[in-house]
Amino acid sequence: MRFNVLASGSSGNSTLISTGKTSVLIDCGLSARELAKRLESVGSSVDKLDAILITHEHSDHIRGLKTLIKNPSIRIYISPIALKSSILKDSFNLNLGEPLKAGQAFEIGDLTIFPIKTPHDSVDPLVFRIENCGVKMAVVTDLGYIPSSVAYELKGCDALVLEANHEIDMLRVSSYPWATKQRILSQVGHLSNKEMARFLQEDFDGKANYLVLAHLSEQNNHPEIARLAALEALSSQTPLFATLNEQKVSIAKAGSPLGWIDL
Ligand SMILES: [Zn+2]
Ligand SMILES: [Zn+2]
Repeated sequence: MRFNVLASGSSGNSTLISTGKTSVLIDCGLSARELAKRLESVGSSVDKLDAILITHEHSDHIRGLKTLIKNPSIRIYISPIALKSSILKDSFNLNLGEPLKAGQAFEIGDLTIFPIKTPHDSVDPLVFRIENCGVKMAVVTDLGYIPSSVAYELKGCDALVLEANHEIDMLRVSSYPWATKQRILSQVGHLSNKEMARFLQEDFDGKANYLVLAHLSEQNNHPEIARLAALEALSSQTPLFATLNEQKVSIAKAGSPLGWIDL
């Protein structure tokens, strides 16, 4: 199994996960045209996709969906109530996979998908843990904090894509309207560097060889600040986390794919 974060951040989110047999996208928050471009730049294409898994109905996660559903070979997996609140609510003849439900695993080709419920201000927010031949990874963004129920499901993952949305002090003094700041900072908003680091320090089992920090705010965070917060949290746990060295902590980008990570 390998994965590539094609885009990450408030301008659009999408992660490609592939085995020799199966290719799925988690979210498609770019325009369909931009997504096709990025898929091709990493040696894939829209035609090679088997499925798109939707975490939630916010536009930075489903922007390309209206166009992509026209491709009949791509099956869409979405929570039924998220579907009713999304841009697809009036669409007919959707090629839907089985309805997503937190805690209920299912298979797409040789991938096992496990949806996990998260605290976020959408109708039925989910993140996904994905497994192939005993290797596991998870993409965990758009959540106000990491409850122990989520941390528990992330144990044993070989790679984690983890939100590091904002540095709290940068957000507090930013030009964002007060209500937006409150929303982001709330328990159902976005993960701060501080909460990401707390998870790594207190709840992370150290199994993952790769950590990708994701959904960084362009205004209220800086890649180096997020990276340092993660490295500092991890170093407080050494030698347990000796495998996760500096080179294996990377930052997903908004403007271009991160590159393949082979698991
Ligand atoms: Zn988002
Ligand atoms: Zn969201």
